[in-house]
Amino acid sequence: MDIKGLFSGKKESRPAEVQPLMNGRVKPGFCCFAVTDDCMLRCKMCQKWKGEEVIRQHPAATLEEWKKAAVSLRTVVDKGFEIDIGGGEALMVKWLWEFVKFCSDLGFKMAIASNAYLLDKEMAKRIADSGLHSMILSLDSLKPEKHDFFRGVPGVYDRVMRAIELLHKHCPGLHVGICSIIMDANLDEIIPLAHWVNDDPRLKSILFMAAMQPNNTPVQDKWYEGGELDLHWPKDREKAIKVIEELIHLRNRGFLIGNSVQQLMAFQAYYRYPDRFVKVGQCNLNKGVHVSSIGDIFLCYRWDHLGNIKKDDLATVLYSEAAENARKKILGCKDNCHFLLNCYYEGDYPFVTEAVS
Ligand code: SF4
Ligand code: SF4
Repeated sequence: MDIKGLFSGKKESRPAEVQPLMNGRVKPGFCCFAVTDDCMLRCKMCQKWKGEEVIRQHPAATLEEWKKAAVSLRTVVDKGFEIDIGGGEALMVKWLWEFVKFCSDLGFKMAIASNAYLLDKEMAKRIADSGLHSMILSLDSLKPEKHDFFRGVPGVYDRVMRAIELLHKHCPGLHVGICSIIMDANLDEIIPLAHWVNDDPRLKSILFMAAMQPNNTPVQDKWYEGGELDLHWPKDREKAIKVIEELIHLRNRGFLIGNSVQQLMAFQAYYRYPDRFVKVGQCNLNKGVHVSSIGDIFLCYRWDHLGNIKKDDLATVLYSEAAENARKKILGCKDNCHFLLNCYYEGDYPFVTEAVS
């Protein structure tokens, strides 16, 4: 699972700020280390698990290589900079908690998105010692059979519930949140999820995500218009927009909804007009840092491959000529890219919201 900018949605809207380093270079604003592409689940809205053959062919970066990258990154960001650990399913990585502890000790704020499947008592204790700041668990329905259907494996719902209880018991102070995708088959369950999180003292937030083209499928402009990829796209778009209207209402009432109102309005525009360009401002992934499971370094995955943490120093790569060229392309990128709807975005979500009314 890959959630970008887990907490960026909580900030109220404000103009995007460029934060220059002393020598005029742009500081990273968002970082995701995708420590594995492997996953034990078979989610309908993600096909990463179909890449098992490819995963085996390309050796993943090692713990020592990730540590070296973290040390390097720390030279160009402030204390408290957030690293989002993503995947695949990060909890499958054997050395994960050693790495989280290492990064926490370096001064990073560490956040993990997980499907919760592997989270047992022993792991909860390791989490407590790791300095992890936040754990965001996927849950798309309060109906066990439906969540398990989405996730392609029986028993996942029960494991999420077990994980919430274990984290509550063993990890005081950890931010435990829920992440739910707004899809065709769970439209009636989005509002109950928001209420449930709000009423449960063990949980600190719920973050909603818009349905996207499934991970690991070839880019297809009109993926939501039929065929096997549109399974999750709300067939009744007006209903989806109404559900999101209610979320906005709850958010304004102080519910623990991690998305900003602007982001939820952007979701509405997207569900109504998915084929329209959803971003009118410049993309801010010029400040992004993405490192894939095999160590490849990108600002945005759609643009230039800049190096690899197995052989390159991450900070040097981020300020290389190649990176500066990639930044120029990103600032001028006119893709009808939906990534930013769920992703790190610092500004006002200047999407085509006026088109909704
Ligand atoms: S979305 Fe599902 S299959 Fe994909 S990485 Fe997350 S848990 Fe695994
Ligand atoms: S594809 Fe373009 S718009 Fe989308 S995140 Fe990358 S740079 Fe930004």
